[in-house]
Amino acid sequence: MADHPHYVGRFAPSPTGPLHLGSLVAALGGYLDAKSAGGQWLIRIEDLDPPRAVPGADRHILKQLADHGLVSDQPVRYQSQRLHQFDEALSVLRDKGHLYFCNCSRRSYPGLYPGTCRARGMAFEQPAALRFRVSETTIKQKDLAQGALTWTHGKDFGDFIVHRRDGLHAYQLAVVVDDIAQAVTRIVRGADLLSATPMQTCLYHAFGVKPPETLHLPMVLGRDGQKLSKQTHAPPVDTEAAADNLNQALRFLNQPIIASDNPKTILDTAIKNWRIDRIPKLIGKTL
Ligand SMILES: [Zn+2]
Repeated sequence: MADHPHYVGRFAPSPTGPLHLGSLVAALGGYLDAKSAGGQWLIRIEDLDPPRAVPGADRHILKQLADHGLVSDQPVRYQSQRLHQFDEALSVLRDKGHLYFCNCSRRSYPGLYPGTCRARGMAFEQPAALRFRVSETTIKQKDLAQGALTWTHGKDFGDFIVHRRDGLHAYQLAVVVDDIAQAVTRIVRGADLLSATPMQTCLYHAFGVKPPETLHLPMVLGRDGQKLSKQTHAPPVDTEAAADNLNQALRFLNQPIIASDNPKTILDTAIKNWRIDRIPKLIGKTL
């Protein structure tokens, strides 16, 4: 219990549709990990992309989580209300020389961005994106579930966008700025976001902040082998079956299932049972 006296974790869904079992696994894993360490668990709505947001989806997600006993320890934060802080963070990065303008279209480079605009010293022009100039050659991380990981600049990640040409703040920037602002110490999320880790670590370095620990849970795969997602029309979790859903998520994470119809009872017992070393060391797995 005393291992992480200042543990802060978070669950950060995008309001693009209701919660499905894949996102419930990530929420539950993060909640149990935080609570078993005596820590706080926060919910943050990542609504930075208005065209993709579905009206009311945030309230629906919060209701679904609450019906499973998963409630934020602090008021729920919305990224759309923090644009000013993201702009400030961009200024900090620009002043330190970490950013450059880029007007390459996504179609003009097949894989990783090759750094075309790095040396061009482009003055401000519209439409242009702001890119982060990566100086690290490798990023190493000991993930608590996946083990020792290494990413190589130019192979696994490249200079990445922090402010989009359409004027929106990019996901990587907003996540890191908010995680720093909320003093998040450990990030528990699906392994589909593993590839975001090196870019986010570069941002932590640039801001002079120690990166949080990471625990990447296996993604929930459908029968077709694809990640369950809103895009693949994964069904919303049925809140009438909250106890069953929680047990399904526990089984997926290789934690003991708990014979109860009461979500609160299941969570309280699952907190005591939680063991990271039981989590399958896999990128994805079917239910
Ligand atoms: Zn470019």
